[in-house]
Amino acid sequence: MISTATLTKLSKVVGPDRLKTDPVSLAAHSFDGYVAEGMPSAVVFPKTTAEVAHIMAIASDGKIPITARGSGTNLSGGAIPVQSGIVLCLTQMNQIIEISTADRYAIVQPGVVNADLQHALHPFNFFFPPDPSSYSVSTIGGNIAEDAGGPRCLKYGVTHDYILGLEVVLSSGKIVRLGSRNVKDVTGYRPAGLFCGSEGTLGIVTEATLKIVPMPKARRTAMICYADLDDTANTVVSVIGAGVIPAAMELMDNTVINLIEDATAVGLPRDVEGILLVDVDGSEGSVDCELAEIVAVAKANHATEIKVATTAAESDALWRGRRSVYGVLNRLSPATIVEDATVPVSKIPAMIRGCRAIALKHNITLSILGHAGDGNLHPCINTDSRNKSESHRVEAAIREIFQLAIELGGCLSGEHGIGLAKSRFLPMGMSADSIDLLSTIKRAIDPHNILNPGKFT
Ligand SMILES: Cc1cc2nc3c(=O)[nH]c(=O)nc-3n(C[C@H](O)[C@H](O)[C@H](O)COP(=O)(O)OP(=O)(O)OC[C@H]3O[C@@H](n4cnc5c(N)ncnc54)[C@H](O)[C@@H]3O)c2cc1C
Repeated sequence: MISTATLTKLSKVVGPDRLKTDPVSLAAHSFDGYVAEGMPSAVVFPKTTAEVAHIMAIASDGKIPITARGSGTNLSGGAIPVQSGIVLCLTQMNQIIEISTADRYAIVQPGVVNADLQHALHPFNFFFPPDPSSYSVSTIGGNIAEDAGGPRCLKYGVTHDYILGLEVVLSSGKIVRLGSRNVKDVTGYRPAGLFCGSEGTLGIVTEATLKIVPMPKARRTAMICYADLDDTANTVVSVIGAGVIPAAMELMDNTVINLIEDATAVGLPRDVEGILLVDVDGSEGSVDCELAEIVAVAKANHATEIKVATTAAESDALWRGRRSVYGVLNRLSPATIVEDATVPVSKIPAMIRGCRAIALKHNITLSILGHAGDGNLHPCINTDSRNKSESHRVEAAIREIFQLAIELGGCLSGEHGIGLAKSRFLPMGMSADSIDLLSTIKRAIDPHNILNPGKFT
């Protein structure tokens, strides 16, 4: 519980309208895209960096837990206030401050929705490459804190590749500016990078200077179908191994294909075992050459049908289908657990076979999709947490999936973060000394552990 005196102080900073303590507001901020909950005592909606700094100083004085929140779409429990306290919701800090194409940057507040930034950049023929499938709702602050990826991160890299500078409010309330507006800047350490992927445990991002990229002149989308999921996976290994790097290369199994088709009717064939959705981009000449190379490799790996979108509308429809996946998976059960165990690309066939064998062994419902081109698979488990015996089987299966990923030289998360979902698995993926280094950094920056406590540090 937060004292009345503290609530009065918070109200003086943001005004009574932007401080919520009613049961509905508290419940609405008690969960995110993961299957857990934690009730906050208050939710505040700052509009400026100065307000965030004041709120942090109040939290620091009272040693009150503070959990940052964007749109609450993360899939690892990062925005759940497990130790109650204050939820700091940044959605009202949603201004695009500046766009400079000559200097290749955009300066934004953390609550800017990824899609709104893309729309603002479009008239300039520029874009911001990180494109989580949640891009129509997730915020840049959340993308930075989770170091989000997405389909086109295969060619372009993930969020941390696009951070030039950050303004961060530390747990003490101190405001620091890290990095700069320069594409090249090697002044000292790269602390801005440390905050990217820190899941709200080190500081509150209140402004970001992001690198932006000119839009490619041409793009082609191809849907490649297979009668066998192994052939689908082997194509990914062969394409990347041949040195062709598409802009995106997404893999979907039969369950996912049919759920997407049920919900969106975008024209995916229902009777195939696997589909690769591939985008290539670049100059007019280069895209056709790259696509021809990919088609040749796909045919050598027994593709049964290859359809190239002939219009932008056709291409957009295929991608709309792909981006609807998590929503449509929820039709199968009350909860979908989306894992993101990631392996070197050459191990994708073994990882997919292994995940399916684990599902069979534990009698659970598992489907496979993922940003396969960069090894980032999403084994998705449909479950009902009220079914206790199934929950135990799901837990055992998830542990085995991560064990397998690590054995294959992979890691615990490619883009969704550790949060609540995977903190218990951290010793599988990191040595005790490495975990200790994380804790040392956390203690140095947030000595009273008020920033998103109970998560991975
Ligand atoms: C349908 C769907 C599809 C998805 N697809 C992808 C995908 O393709 N790739 C991918 O990487 N992820 C994906 N995700 C996961 C999720 O959308 C991303 O992790 C996203 O970056 C979260 O943004 P958010 O605004 O919702 O952040 P939230 O969920 O609100 O917060 C995420 C974390 O960031 C912290 N945080 C938020 N704002 C700040 C800030 N300003 N300063 C410090 N910490 C902060 C929070 O404390 C929390 O730990 C998907 C989720 C869904 C529901």
